[in-house]
Amino acid sequence: MLEFVLNFLFPPVCGICGKKNKNWICEKCKTKLEKFEKNKYIKNELKKNCTNLEHIFFDEFFYIFEYKKIIRKLILRYNFVEKPYLSNMFAGIILNNKKVETILKSYDIIVSVPMDSKKKNERGYNQTELITNIILKKGNILVENRVLYKNKYTKTQSTLSLDERYENIKNAFLVKNAEKIKNKKVIVFDDIYTTGATVNEISKLLKKAGAQKILVLVIARV
Ligand SMILES: [Zn+2]
Repeated sequence: MLEFVLNFLFPPVCGICGKKNKNWICEKCKTKLEKFEKNKYIKNELKKNCTNLEHIFFDEFFYIFEYKKIIRKLILRYNFVEKPYLSNMFAGIILNNKKVETILKSYDIIVSVPMDSKKKNERGYNQTELITNIILKKGNILVENRVLYKNKYTKTQSTLSLDERYENIKNAFLVKNAEKIKNKKVIVFDDIYTTGATVNEISKLLKKAGAQKILVLVIARV
């Protein structure tokens, strides 16, 4: 019912061109995005693919797009301008991706990278959480927002050097309700993968808390 009312008040539009579209992306714009699709599933060659990480705590890595041109523009618009409706488009892209569908089937839980409350209040939403909440409604996987928490205020990673990024992210997160992920296969979801410092730190904590296996899923990789 709520969805019906919301659709009436804010009819679904294509996240790119703004034309009405019930799938939140029109065919024409979808074709534009597909050019940047990589759908890269890295299982055995993590070390070779994530060269700046000394010790890798996640087991698998999947990214959908290369972070450039239209993809970069869209993610920036989504993160820094108030465009939470783009979450519907991104969630649609994720859920309609055949490879991601297979991944979702072989994992138990998704957690999204949390934001500290200061930033969340400023922006009014956590962009990755919005997306995972839509996945929760439409996909067949459990989304767990009560496990991972942001512990301190951190600077935006993109403004920092590699060393500063590690320092910035150190002790930035905290796991609560560890029993929810114990012996579970967990997907850590974020929008962009740059150096991997954030998702790696989170994977370390989740493994320590008992997670059996971890896959990092991102929309785009720099
Ligand atoms: Zn469009």
